[in-house]
Amino acid sequence: MNKITKRWFVNNFIVILVILIIIEILVSLGIRSFYYNNVEEFIKSQGLAMLNLIDKSYKSSLDDFEFELRSMIESFEQKDKMEVMVLNENGKVLLTSNGFDVENQKETPDYDIIKEMESKLYSPGYAQAVYELNNENVMAVIYPVETKIKDIGYIRFVSSITNVDRQIVIIIAITALIAVFIIFFVVISSSYFIQSIVVPVDEISKTAKRIAHGDFNIRLERQTDDEIGDLCDTINHMAEELSVTEKIKNEFISSVSHELRTPLTAIRGWAETVSSCSPSDQDIIKKGLKVISDETQRLSSMVEELLDFSRIQRGKMTLILSKLDLVAELEDILIIFQERAKKESVLIESDFTDECLPIFGDKNRLKQVFTNVIDNAFKYSDKDKKVIITAEKNLNFAVVKIIDNGCGIDPRDLPKIKEKFYKANYSKRGSGIGLAVADEIIKLHKGSLDVYSVEDKGTTIVIQIPIYKNNKLNN
Ligand code: ADP
Repeated sequence: MNKITKRWFVNNFIVILVILIIIEILVSLGIRSFYYNNVEEFIKSQGLAMLNLIDKSYKSSLDDFEFELRSMIESFEQKDKMEVMVLNENGKVLLTSNGFDVENQKETPDYDIIKEMESKLYSPGYAQAVYELNNENVMAVIYPVETKIKDIGYIRFVSSITNVDRQIVIIIAITALIAVFIIFFVVISSSYFIQSIVVPVDEISKTAKRIAHGDFNIRLERQTDDEIGDLCDTINHMAEELSVTEKIKNEFISSVSHELRTPLTAIRGWAETVSSCSPSDQDIIKKGLKVISDETQRLSSMVEELLDFSRIQRGKMTLILSKLDLVAELEDILIIFQERAKKESVLIESDFTDECLPIFGDKNRLKQVFTNVIDNAFKYSDKDKKVIITAEKNLNFAVVKIIDNGCGIDPRDLPKIKEKFYKANYSKRGSGIGLAVADEIIKLHKGSLDVYSVEDKGTTIVIQIPIYKNNKLNN
């Protein structure tokens, strides 16, 4: 038995079973008391009528009373249904409706019961008892007779209730059968329901295990339009995301290895060249050392980027905040890029607001962000390169835009571009974490970094940082 079935058995089945048993017991008791009451009422109605007749006949015909009483008892209308007896004070039968000779009969076989009934007789004016008499169940009712003539003590009615008992047993059997049918129906429908949960859950669990072991291509088929169907979709979505993450991870490892190998190859090559060339080849030595220095610089900035990323992941990146003029910072950065622009024939333009843009930020981290974004603008442009940098105030924000006319970004890649390790363009060198780090740094400044791009037309990066007011970062 699986665990869900066990839980269903304990929580539902046993409860339903107990409720049905209780209902069955209550119905049985109710039916028994209903039928017995009916029989009792019928006997009582006959008894009262008989008492009435006895009373009348006693008063009207005192002389013939004995005769009258005998004919009254013997011609009792309901004698096929019940026996009526006249008893003396000691329980001896004086007259009976079944016509037997009672002369020799000392006392009735249920004498003890009659005596016991006598003790209960006077408060309701009669006494009733159900017991076994001559191998059959009977109901007896006795009434005291006021008329003390001829030793008459009680009038007693005895009716067999065997038929009534049979009737009660049949009804109880029918209700028990209905209860069994209900249980059967509950078991069948519940086991179908449980199977409809257990089978797909089992399937989901097997699939989830395979996904955990790295089989990201496996998918579940959605068979029902319910929570289980939703779970299948979620698992499929999870597998898809994991496979994308796996792909990105593999691409990241290969791109970082590639990124590391290229400068390392250059460094090793130039180091060997420099060490083997004669000291008089000053030009080659200078060029070699320059390449070694540049490539070392590239390696260390890449390692820095990776370390920054790891700090962000651990929530350990902290800012050293101070009051800054963003325009002045941008102008400093621009000077560095103007030199590079000349070398790489990039037209670089700036359009900064005349007023200063005071912000409360980390000078070095912001420099890192703008350097990265402008570097991307240079990197992802080919011919007729043009990069425009603007800075202005918009409400409570300093807004900086870095606009290029480069290759742009495929709309499918655009939503993921700020994710870690995501590279939309593998033709250029880069680890794919520059924008992720930049985005995090701007978020730490309570600002935003948005990317707008049209493929083959260009890209605009919009960075917004709150204007400094009252020594705090505003939203
Ligand atoms: P990378 O080190 O690869 O440049 P980034 O995180 O800086 O990593 O950028 C992520 C990806 O976004 C890049 O691989 C590139 O495809 C795309 N991208 C970023 N800036 C631009 C841009 N100005 N123009 C075109 N594509 C860009």
